[in-house]
Amino acid sequence: MNSSDRHQGRTATEAGWHISRYNIAARIPGTKMTVIFNTYRRICAVYTPIELHIMRVLDEVSENHPLIGRLASRGVIANYDEREAFALQRTLSCAHAPVGGVSITICPTLACNFECPYCFATRGRGKMTPEVQDDVVAFAARMLDAANAKELTITWFGGEPLMATDVIEALSPRLIEVAEERGCKYEAWIFTNGHLLSQSVVDLLLRCRVTYVHIPLDGVGVTNDATRRLVGGGPTYQRIVDNLGLLKPPIKTLMPKSSRGILQTCESSASSTSMQEQLETEGWILRPESTFSFRDLTDDYFQITNPAPWTKAFRLDF
Ligand code: SF4
Repeated sequence: MNSSDRHQGRTATEAGWHISRYNIAARIPGTKMTVIFNTYRRICAVYTPIELHIMRVLDEVSENHPLIGRLASRGVIANYDEREAFALQRTLSCAHAPVGGVSITICPTLACNFECPYCFATRGRGKMTPEVQDDVVAFAARMLDAANAKELTITWFGGEPLMATDVIEALSPRLIEVAEERGCKYEAWIFTNGHLLSQSVVDLLLRCRVTYVHIPLDGVGVTNDATRRLVGGGPTYQRIVDNLGLLKPPIKTLMPKSSRGILQTCESSASSTSMQEQLETEGWILRPESTFSFRDLTDDYFQITNPAPWTKAFRLDF
């Protein structure tokens, strides 16, 4: 550390700064850069070795160091009790329901058949136990009652949720029943890598009233296969594309440009326009029931957040 880094007055630690307990970090292959996803602030950003070093020496660096503010703005360091703040945030979220609906994201498993290098979920094992499934159903009922909701939206997430189709099949009718008992509309989405889709899986999704399938790709062909690869290696693109042919109305496909965007800012690979053009050349995103959404990243971080208009207050009694 050079002399300008040394503190005069309080150190960052003395001023209360500490590393966030909600950071998930991954080194970007072939670079010295690190991606950190702060799950509390929901900010994903790329960090230089100097920024990482500053995070490690908060007890030596001045609280006024210029990087402190930058790191704080992205949530990777904090000067407050995050657990207390998180609990407060949860209470406030429960106290202000989005108009009309309750959305619940469910991970039936954190296991995955892919090992994308930027993913925190690749070491997950097991699947949701029956006891937790009971809790999920009870939670959905409480949320709907408390919000006096008119709609229940379930998002199946992971890991790879299609590695636990038995959980989806067991939970869906129970959640549908909870919704319909209260006169609520039911809708379900799934975020899947698309590799395990088959006709029998599509039939299962239809039985479970999953009508939106969200499949991320990291590019076309070998560009995708460089990062979205099978556990132990192996390409995935062609099979995903073949499987897309199984998705017909009422299922709608959404193919976002999501995770790759984090790495793309470092690697300056294909632009959004060229990727969309390549996909369109292959013809399969032009189907009227399909939607292609692209997250265009012009900064080196983005915030995964989509605040809903909170207008109605209610209270939960747990
Ligand atoms: S497919 Fe999704 S869950 Fe699986 S390793 Fe890749 S990013 Fe992670």
